[in-house]
This record gives sequence, C-alpha cells and structure tokens, in this order.
Amino acid sequence: MDKIEHIGIAVKDLDKSNTLFAKLFGIPHYKIEAVESEGVRTSFFQSGPNKIELLEATNPNSAIAKFLEKKGEGIHHIAFAVKDIEKEMERLQQEGFVVLPGFPKQGADNKIVAFLHPKGTNGVLVELCQDKQ
Ligand code: ZN
Repeated sequence: MDKIEHIGIAVKDLDKSNTLFAKLFGIPHYKIEAVESEGVRTSFFQSGPNKIELLEATNPNSAIAKFLEKKGEGIHHIAFAVKDIEKEMERLQQEGFVVLPGFPKQGADNKIVAFLHPKGTNGVLVELCQDKQ
C-alpha cells in the first residue's frame, strides 16, 4: 500500500458541508460526483497535500445512510493508494482480511476501489484505490 489517498467523511447535507469545509480549508471543493451504484453523492477537496471526500447518502438503503443512522456524521473511511488493486486484494485476503464482496469496481474521482471489512481492521473501514488508466 502507498500513501493515504484521501479520507472519507460521511455528512447529512453535502451542500451545507461543502460550504463548511470550504471555510475550513480556504478553498472550495473541486468536484461533485454521484456514484449511483453506491447510492452516494460525493465532493472532493484538495487542501495542500491532503484530499478529503465528503459523502452524502442519496438513497436510504445505501451504506452511507446506514452509517449515518448508526454512528452519525464523521470519519467514514481511510483510502490508501495502491498500484495493483487485484494483487493487493489477493495479498490482504491471504493475510486474513475480508474484502467486501462485489469489489473492485468503479469509484468516484477516476478510481477503481475495494473495501476491507472494518471488523478485521479495528473498526476502520479501509478503502484501496487505484488510478483508473
Ligand atoms: Zn473514498
């Protein structure tokens, strides 16, 4: 695994949070993107070397809606850049981590993504993301 690619934060109202985070970083989001298959709308901020993804649920059965219901707003996942997602998934599975079913697939911001089950990672949802060629 390489560097932290971004940190994902679950929010109830993306438009309000975009305003808030723009004030925090002193720079507005650089994109908004819906991922229909995941039932989310996302926005991205680049603050210096740090990238933050905000996630809002667009349907009540999405993982983000369930997360917000259970835990409220806050840090949802940490994403690590990987060069070869298939190889990294295989390595992690051999180490006993559980890759969530249905991945890798197309994520937001031109990435191919996969997630590790947080039960195996001390409660932290880990995202692997590879640049889409
Ligand atoms: Zn993410």
